[in-house]
Amino acid sequence: MDRPDPHPDRSRRPDEQGRPRRPDDHNDPDRPVRTGAPDGTDRRTRPAPRTSALELCLLRESLAYSCPEAETALALQGLGAGPVADAGTERQRARWLPEAAAGRAVAAFALSEPGAGSDAAALALRAEPEAGGGARRWRLTGTKTWISNAPWADFYTVFARTGPDPGPRGVTAFLVPADRPGLSGEPLDMLAPHALGTLTFDGVPVTGDDLLGEPGHGFGVAMRTLNLFRPSVGAFAVGMAQAALDASLAHAAERPAFGGVLRDLQSVSHQLAEMATRTEAARLLVYAAACAYDGSGGTGRDLPRRAAMAKLLATETAQYVVDAAVQIHGAAALRRGHLLEHLYREVRAPRIYEGASEVQRSLIARELFKQLHEERAAVRTPPPPSTKGSSTA
Ligand SMILES: Cc1cc2nc3c(=O)[nH]c(=O)nc-3n(C[C@H](O)[C@H](O)[C@H](O)COP(=O)(O)OP(=O)(O)OC[C@H]3O[C@@H](n4cnc5c(N)ncnc54)[C@H](O)[C@@H]3O)c2cc1C
Repeated sequence: MDRPDPHPDRSRRPDEQGRPRRPDDHNDPDRPVRTGAPDGTDRRTRPAPRTSALELCLLRESLAYSCPEAETALALQGLGAGPVADAGTERQRARWLPEAAAGRAVAAFALSEPGAGSDAAALALRAEPEAGGGARRWRLTGTKTWISNAPWADFYTVFARTGPDPGPRGVTAFLVPADRPGLSGEPLDMLAPHALGTLTFDGVPVTGDDLLGEPGHGFGVAMRTLNLFRPSVGAFAVGMAQAALDASLAHAAERPAFGGVLRDLQSVSHQLAEMATRTEAARLLVYAAACAYDGSGGTGRDLPRRAAMAKLLATETAQYVVDAAVQIHGAAALRRGHLLEHLYREVRAPRIYEGASEVQRSLIARELFKQLHEERAAVRTPPPPSTKGSSTA
């Protein structure tokens, strides 16, 4: 299968010493880069076609190849603005999406809490009805953590509990502008440069105008967003794996060793073949998941399984490929500032966020057994006999 060249701008490749090129205007790596989002809105007035899942994957893959920080900045805008595009009112969209698309407003997606990471449905941030405020006024109280772009974002998609029901029921999504009273935050220092922090909600006021979708349906907003973004996390990983592979090929072709060069050693060339094969397999699974999303308009029943498989395989593959690339480069790869030192730190987090690998496996298995159950039920319940005579098909 031909694939679009994800590296059209060769000047953005690592420099001759294998050092990553950074965005010129991004001097503090712990602050979010203000960048446009693939959110489907023109930066002025005209609505533009929404970015497809496949386009999102191609964007993320090619940016990850050249500069993971730039990739992350783009992806986080999309993750934060995605629920607004999906479930926001016309007013919310008009207010925030052009700003996010133009890079003038930074978006964030606030689901995780200290007591609710993988088990996101256990979230505890309370949205309590405001005393005397009527049915559509709440106060948000609690903590969110590991929130990308916090505390610098301009607006947050916040998932809070409005009802007494446990689990996913009773979760409501709100769009909370960062300047609301009672909202504060602290940055967290991470292994790889990533704008990320905690948020404290101390009675933050929200109203019906801030709802994203209906009360009690917030978990669906979160899951729909993740179904779109999970394959693209895989694309991010594929881009990093390809960068590590290309650097390894170049190195193995030139590095003198035992009277020849590294590539002459069969164990090295076989390792490169394995890295390339796994990277291509991951890429194809990512593209397949994205195409399934686009083909079904985001409603396919198999999307959760496909998205989970793509994210799982691609992020685990990227970890394998980057680690193997470090081995092929030897000590040079571990020097601060080397491309692989950088990728080695960058590649780790995607195996944890937007659902850890173990969570993806559980999700895939659950979907497989659900499908088996449905197929068996269909066999046990034959369709009613046709009243139009027998079919010959
Ligand atoms: C760089 C980065 C950016 C992030 N950005 C955001 C963001 O923008 N918004 C947001 O809301 N969150 C964000 N997160 C949080 C992320 O979604 C959580 O870290 C993730 O959901 C895992 O939760 P946890 O870290 O609390 O780990 P835990 O839930 O405590 O899990 C720890 C480990 O336990 C194991 N485990 C957990 N559940 C299972 C299971 N069911 N079966 C088997 N094993 C299991 C896994 O090995 C897992 O890694 C980000 C995290 C990182 C690292």
